[in-house]
Formats: sequence, structure tokens, C-alpha cells
Amino acid sequence: MQTHEVFNQAKSLKDFNAAKSPIIPETLTAFGAEARILEVEEIGALAGSAEVIELADIVEENPPILHTHDLQGNRIDTVKYDPAYHRLMTIALENGLAGAAWADEDPNAHLIRAAKFGVWQMTDAGHGCPVSMSYAIAPALRQSPELSAAYGPLLAGRKYEAALRPPLTKNTLTAGMSMTEKQGGSDVRANTTKAERQGDGTYRLIGHKWFTSAPMSDVYLALAQTDAGLSCFLVPRILEDGTLNEMRIMRLKDKLGNHSNASSEIEYHGATAYLVGEEGKGVKTIVEMVNSTRLDCVIGSAAIMRLGVAHATNHVSQREAFGKKLIDQPLMRNVIADLAIEAEGATLASLWLAHLTDLAQAGDTNAALLRRIGLASSKYYVCKRGPEHAAEALECFGGNGYVEDSGMPKIYREAPIYSIWEGSGNVSALDAVRAATRQPETLEALVAELETAVGASEAYDLFLDDLKAKFSHNLANESGARRIVGEMALAIQAMLLLKYGNRAVADAFIDSRLAGNWGTVYGTLSNELNLDPIIERAMPYVN
Ligand SMILES: Cc1cc2nc3c(=O)[nH]c(=O)nc-3n(C[C@H](O)[C@H](O)[C@H](O)COP(=O)(O)OP(=O)(O)OC[C@H]3O[C@@H](n4cnc5c(N)ncnc54)[C@H](O)[C@@H]3O)c2cc1C
Repeated sequence: MQTHEVFNQAKSLKDFNAAKSPIIPETLTAFGAEARILEVEEIGALAGSAEVIELADIVEENPPILHTHDLQGNRIDTVKYDPAYHRLMTIALENGLAGAAWADEDPNAHLIRAAKFGVWQMTDAGHGCPVSMSYAIAPALRQSPELSAAYGPLLAGRKYEAALRPPLTKNTLTAGMSMTEKQGGSDVRANTTKAERQGDGTYRLIGHKWFTSAPMSDVYLALAQTDAGLSCFLVPRILEDGTLNEMRIMRLKDKLGNHSNASSEIEYHGATAYLVGEEGKGVKTIVEMVNSTRLDCVIGSAAIMRLGVAHATNHVSQREAFGKKLIDQPLMRNVIADLAIEAEGATLASLWLAHLTDLAQAGDTNAALLRRIGLASSKYYVCKRGPEHAAEALECFGGNGYVEDSGMPKIYREAPIYSIWEGSGNVSALDAVRAATRQPETLEALVAELETAVGASEAYDLFLDDLKAKFSHNLANESGARRIVGEMALAIQAMLLLKYGNRAVADAFIDSRLAGNWGTVYGTLSNELNLDPIIERAMPYVN
């Protein structure tokens, strides 16, 4: 019996180009990388293809499984992944999203990699974790030139090989990070894992790690205590003789999201490790890796904002309620425009930070100072905006947004992680304040950069004057760190939008976020604004 006809249901977003947000090519052009826009669009087409969307669905539904022992009771400490996971990793690495940028001589290598990684993160954030760690390890490893010479070229490889072998016998390596312990995550100096120096110059690690993602990586950077204090070590998963290093995987975490990524608890039972950098300087060494994964958190947050906007605009352009398409309902237009400007500001900030990485690598000290403070403040603010943004994009679907097939619950589950790992919200805000107070030249560089947009918008100028006054007396109070660092991040996004972005987006961003013509939730932009050009920019994904 046919009870009814199905109508007024939106077609899901399929076979789209994930790189189509205009802010991406505009920013690449602004920073001199227009010659490589096509490459970004190619990976965008792949990311939005039906084939890759299906791979992402498969890995979401089939999380990795830990096998601690074989049939005979021997320890094997192996995590098995669905083949779809390995396919996603293969594509990510062959497109240079892991360590390849460090070996790429293009002056925009990190910017291009960031644009591509952001587009690819719109598929499945979980496998992005090992890709990001494999990208991030290189600058930390450089602090031990011999290790860097041996492992660096392999970490820059593009041929993903899932099977474990002695690292130096492989073409391409993946990397993980092993810092967090039960008694202290943000406060890594509380680590209790011990490192004992051996006669041959290697070390033996004994202790545990409460979180170590991607435990099937080839190598890790781990923190452990020596007599000189907390130190950083390179730990291979497989030893030169082909045996498993003494790293036991105790269990995998049952997590809110990031399902395709195995996040494990491990124990080091005398694992062989190589010192990276100097004994006692572990934090200084590993922070070089952490800073690059922090950049990827900002890129990832911006990516899922764009994905939320893409899904939401696709839905509201097709669905009708109360006699009109939802996209033509004035209040829904306000919601979509508000979500879209957040995504544009976040995307521009993330690509600017990657551009600063390129400049800093080339020896530009001002860029390095800007990256230091800009990254800490954006890691705090952009990542903190993610979960609220995801919830609002989900609600644009009404009830269907709460249903798995819409893809929105996955976005909602992924959003908080970027703010938690690699420096949770408070820790990132305090880090930005630390940069400003202990290294005042970072703040001076930032103020000078923010002043380059003065004269383009009266509201921006007023906000900046006020912020500069706050910098002179509000930075010392830790309890106010979120507020002032959030304003710092907003000023950065406004400055970037004025200089490199779309004027209508910049005006709406400044009017709402800087001038205060805004409510406390999305969809509260002022009635005075013309939202049409903003909505038009949010529409390239519509089916
Ligand atoms: C899915 C997942 C994967 C992960 N993968 C890895 C991995 O591969 N390797 C790894 O080493 N770790 C990993 N982590 C751990 C992650 O980095 C830590 O959980 C994070 O750094 C926070 O540490 P914590 O859990 O000990 O929380 P805590 O440090 O106890 O922090 C708890 C809260 O207190 C706040 N806080 C801390 N210090 C201050 C302060 N001074 N003032 C005010 N507030 C403060 C924090 O912002 C946070 O909100 C992973 C975590 C997750 C969820």
C-alpha cells in the first residue's frame, strides 16, 4: 500500500568540490600561490566525491580494533583498521598532506599543504590526526640533526605503507605523539615516565601514557624524565631487528567522535628510545611539533565550519516551510550568513598562519613572531567556536540534522576535539598571554600588523584602539585571558578580512563581532546589513 508521496525532502550533498568556498582561492591568490589553486581544487573534487564520502562513512561505522595477543597468547599489540582507513591515509599522503611540505621548495609549500589539508579534513577528521602528527614532527626532530637526516626524508614520503617494519627500511613513515599521562596532560611537567640511559647511548622508557593516538605509527615523539628533567625521545614502534619495541597497547578509548582514529592508552616496558634535542629540554623540543599540530587544529575547525555551511546551505536551498524555500526566509538567511562569515574568518586565519609558517621557514623573524601569538590566540578562539557552529549548522536541517545519515551528527561529534587536544581552551588562551607578556616583541609585531588595516573601517579602528588600551593593563590577570585573547583573535580575523577577504563579509564580521551589533547566538546579525552577497558566497556547494 502506498501511503504517501515523498516530497519536499532535500537531496543530500554528494559529488561536490570541497574546495569551492571562494575564500580559499582568494586567499591563495592574495598570498601569491594562485599557480597552485588547481591542485587544491583537484583534492577538493576528490574529497567531495561519492567514492570518498563512502570511505568516510565506512571508517565512521567501523572503528579500529585492538588485538593485544595472538592465538598462542603472545603479545602482538596490533590495531586493525578497516581497509577504507588505509585508503584515506594513502590518498592523504600521496597528496603531500603529511610531511612532504618540509621537503617542498615552493615558497608557499605550507600554505598549499594547509589549503589541501583543510579541504581533505572535510572527509573524515579521524585519520587527519595521524596525518597531522606525521606533518608536525619534522621541526622537532631537526633539533637532533642525525635523527633528522635519517628519518626526515622518510617522514616527507608520500607512499603510505600500513604494515610495520623497521622504520629505516621503509619508504615513508608516519608519526605519533606521546605526552599525556594520567596525572597530567596540559601540565606535562608532571609526567612520571622515566628514561634510563644505556651504555650504547640509547634510552629505555618505563612508564605509561594515558593518550597516544595512532598507535600503529612508525615512530613517536615521547616525553620522559631523565635526571636532567623532562626530555623528548624518538621511539620506533619496530626495532632494527624487526621485533616489536616494548610498547604495550593497553586499550583503545571509547570516544565521542574521531571514530576512525585509534586513541590508545599505552605502557612503555623498557622501550628503546633516542634522545631528541637536549636532556631536560623536552618541552622546548616537542613544542615545535605541538605548534604544527595546533595549526592543524585551526585548519580542522575552519574545515568543519565550511562543511557545516555547505550541508546547511544545500539543505535550506531545497527545503520549503511556510510557503517559501528556507533560504528565502529572512531569519534563516540571518543564520546562514552568520555561520558563513564565521567560516570565512576562520579559514582566512588558518591560511594566514600557514603563510606565516612559510615566511618564518624562509627566515622572516617578524612572521615567526606573528605566528607565535597569532597561532596561540587562533587555536583558542577558532577551535572554541567550532562546537557551537556545528550545532547551529545541524539545526538548519531540523530533525534530519539529528539523524546520522545527514552527516551532521559526525560534524557535531568532531567539533570539540580541536579545542581539547594540543592545548585545551584555557591552556591556549594562557599561552597567548604568555607569548604577549614574556616575549613582548610578539605583541608589538601583532599590533603593527593589526594597524595595517586601520582606515578601512571606523568600527575596526575603534575596536583596535580599545584593544591596544587593554593590552597595556589587562594581560596580567589570568582570569581575563579568554576575553582578551578572544578579542585578539577577532581583531586578527577582521584585519585579514578587510585586507584580503570580501567586503560584505568583513563588514558583517566587524559589525557583529567587533562593534557588538550581535546577540549571543548565531542568526543575530543586524537588520541593517545586506546579507545577499554573503549568502551567495555560501552557495557554491548546493546540489
Ligand atoms: C581523542 C583524543 C586524542 C588524543 N591524542 C593524544 C595523543 O596522541 N598524544 C597525547 O599526548 N595526548 C593526546 N590526547 C590528550 C590531550 O592532548 C589532553 O587530553 C589535553 O592536552 C588535556 O589534558 P588533560 O586531559 O590531562 O586535561 P587537564 O590538563 O587536566 O585539563 C583539564 C581542564 O583544565 C584546564 N586547565 C589546565 N590547566 C589550566 C590552568 N593553568 N588554568 C586554567 N585552566 C587550566 C584545561 O584547559 C582543561 O579544560 C588526546 C585526547 C583526545 C581526547
